[in-house]
Amino acid sequence: MPVARAVVLAAPNSVETWDVDIYDPAPTGVLVRIVVGGVCGSDSHIVSGDAGEMPFPIILGHEGVGRIEKLGADITTDCAGAPVEVGDLVYWAPIALCHRCYSCTVLDNTPCENSQFFERADKPNWGSYADYAWLPPGMAFYRVPDHVEPEALAALGCALPTALRGFEQAGGIQCNQTVVVQGAGPVGLSAVLVASLSGAAEIIVIDASDTRLAIARSLGATATISLTGSSSEQRFNDIYGLTGPSGPDLVVEAAGVLDAFPEGVNLIGQHGRYVVLGLWGAMGESAIQPRLLTTKNAHIVGATFPKPKHYYGTVQLVARCQDTVPLSALVTHRFALEDASAALDAIRSGTVVKAVIDPAL
Ligand SMILES: [Zn+2]
Ligand SMILES: [Zn+2]
Repeated sequence: MPVARAVVLAAPNSVETWDVDIYDPAPTGVLVRIVVGGVCGSDSHIVSGDAGEMPFPIILGHEGVGRIEKLGADITTDCAGAPVEVGDLVYWAPIALCHRCYSCTVLDNTPCENSQFFERADKPNWGSYADYAWLPPGMAFYRVPDHVEPEALAALGCALPTALRGFEQAGGIQCNQTVVVQGAGPVGLSAVLVASLSGAAEIIVIDASDTRLAIARSLGATATISLTGSSSEQRFNDIYGLTGPSGPDLVVEAAGVLDAFPEGVNLIGQHGRYVVLGLWGAMGESAIQPRLLTTKNAHIVGATFPKPKHYYGTVQLVARCQDTVPLSALVTHRFALEDASAALDAIRSGTVVKAVIDPAL
């Protein structure tokens, strides 16, 4: 059987490059040659072991963009009905759902009870730090229009589907409404983009990094507030100065820091909404004033695990706006497969906007 390279996490903090078998696709599956694989902040938590038990050894990577190398015998279209051929660029929802459990069939929601994020490295595998990804039957994949740059799609990675899901959970944003985004990492930047394309009147972003705040403005933020050297009271006053006394219609938590939560609750406007997207790794407790929820008539939701439709939405959205918004430029670092450890270090250091693995290097 032919072999190709893959970056394998053999055990926590043990990243290795292996030769793995290239399997033919199943009759309703697809074999994809990876063009770029996004390096996600969560990958470093997976490597360190913070993200919990994994079926080691696993192939890393869940943000793959690639070209169809081989189609399963029974596949003629993507999962949205677009015809596909060998060589087409595709993007996929990297969580294998079982389509036969309570969540899949009754709740119609993700994650499902049998969700599979990773497969063992010695089995057919969809990890995207690799030359090839083998998409199993039932894994949703979508054709990417020819003019889309792979980097534009990889730029925000799984953060854009996450933001799309979050806005849906929170009831979306109407034109002329105001949005506050806490944090300008990939999820916050994605929230800025979605808010901007939704026609928000004000998009106010809080972050400690001037670089990230500048990127937020390039994606549609109308005002930015530096976390550095400002108090939460000052930020509240600045934000209410921009939105008016009723406050923001939607606050988006994308900071990933526990302290963002009580500040976010304070910032909620009258009849406002707060969607919490970034706290999956922020263990601990947080003191809030619960009466604010009553007095503001507030609505707080969490969101995680984008559905396939949010990946489809990401493809369409990037195809529409890559020429007017500098998405590809967000990919600031590119690493060879063999340098995956350096890519993960770079992500941890916080010096990169977006890093990708490029198997062609
Ligand atoms: Zn299921
Ligand atoms: Zn990701």
